[in-house]
Amino acid sequence: MSTSQVSGFYKKSMEARLDIVRKAGKLTKEEAQVMANTGSLEPAVADRMIENVVGSMPLPLGIAVNFQINGRDYLIPMAIEEPSVVAAASNAAKMARVGGGFQAQTTDPVMIGQIQVVDVPDPDAAKVRVLEAREKILEVCNERDPVLVKFGGGARDVEARVIQTPREPMLVVHILVDCRDAMGANAVNTMAEAVAPLIEELSGGRVYLRIISNLAVKRLARATATFAQDAIGGEEVVEGILRAYAFAAADPYRCATHNKGIMNGIDAVVIATGNDWRAIEAGAHSYAALGGRYKPLTVWEKDSKGDLVGSIEVPMAVGLVGGATATHPTAKANVKLLGVKTASELAQVVAAVGLAQNFAALRALATEGIQRGHMSLHARNIAVMAGAEVDEVDDVVKRLLAEKVIRVDRAQEILQEMRGEK
Ligand code: NAD
Repeated sequence: MSTSQVSGFYKKSMEARLDIVRKAGKLTKEEAQVMANTGSLEPAVADRMIENVVGSMPLPLGIAVNFQINGRDYLIPMAIEEPSVVAAASNAAKMARVGGGFQAQTTDPVMIGQIQVVDVPDPDAAKVRVLEAREKILEVCNERDPVLVKFGGGARDVEARVIQTPREPMLVVHILVDCRDAMGANAVNTMAEAVAPLIEELSGGRVYLRIISNLAVKRLARATATFAQDAIGGEEVVEGILRAYAFAAADPYRCATHNKGIMNGIDAVVIATGNDWRAIEAGAHSYAALGGRYKPLTVWEKDSKGDLVGSIEVPMAVGLVGGATATHPTAKANVKLLGVKTASELAQVVAAVGLAQNFAALRALATEGIQRGHMSLHARNIAVMAGAEVDEVDDVVKRLLAEKVIRVDRAQEILQEMRGEK
């Protein structure tokens, strides 16, 4: 690569940008075309969503079946590149149905906007003045978003804390905003910026950061499900899952992977509905660590009948208006397929999928091990990578699995043998 300095790159057309990139990266015309293909996303829409756009990066979209949540059936779109996730969610949902499916709830969709105040002469006295001015603060915030207020949302409350930092004590003001069907980052950030001068006046200090917190502890989604012992393989499986959970609860190394499995399901639905999965990831992991130790996002117990009861509780800042949910055509179709009417209902669905995913992973780990289920899908990927045509894939997979050698080089040898035989 000659240089990565490209002046005015953002001002150029998508074609012109791609041309520059193609030459710099020595890409073939075909490779550049693959990048340029935006699929269902109009190039002009993609170009408006982010900067320096040259194309798009498609992900497979799978539909998880069998889900029943609060007595309603859902077909759940999941956008993800990892094999087994959609199958595992569907399978777990099938087993959960025996026990009545998933029950899910949410708190009100309240997000926290943070306002950082420094150089405060008397932080504790300033805190009291800020809390006393609650009504005025809420009024200033709500003036900024009459649409949100019209839909039943808006700034609801004010909190203030004095925190000790490596530099100095700081006053931190939280505005609590009911975001209704929006994820709320733009709405909350706008309010936090609008109210900053008033906070400076009240505190006598200087405001620095004014931004939403992704640790959305006031916007929680919860789902529970009972998995009947007989539907999941008996007492031994229940005990195996409880032991796997206990391992995660006691050990952060295991817990990271436990929660990763949950996020496999959560992220896939969040992405499919055009929501901000970085926000959800940040919220989930910071919530998991909130008590000072990184904890599982799920809890697994046994009830008096010996059935397995799982629950999940996780911040869930997803929206139906704003962001890519409103602009991405596939996201819009996915939301329609789901049939969710509110952001809270979407949050309940996402939480249920997270719980289902965790169940599926723990059950697989506690019984046959995760690799068996993974291997046939993995073998398919390897066969395709080795160059197998559609009518050759099944035979290559069969032989790779029989030999228990799932490697591209072996798949290529098998292909050569097969083709030689023809
Ligand atoms: P937005 O500003 O596009 O839409 C929200 C607005 O829509 C509301 O303020 C309201 O005026 C209006 N609205 C109309 N009908 C509504 C209804 N039924 N319920 C609620 N509001 C309604 O979107 P947003 O949700 O404020 O922001 C989301 C975007 O912000 C995402 O794309 C996210 O990636 C991005 N973002 C995230 C962060 C972060 O997470 N830290 C920071 C900055 C930006």
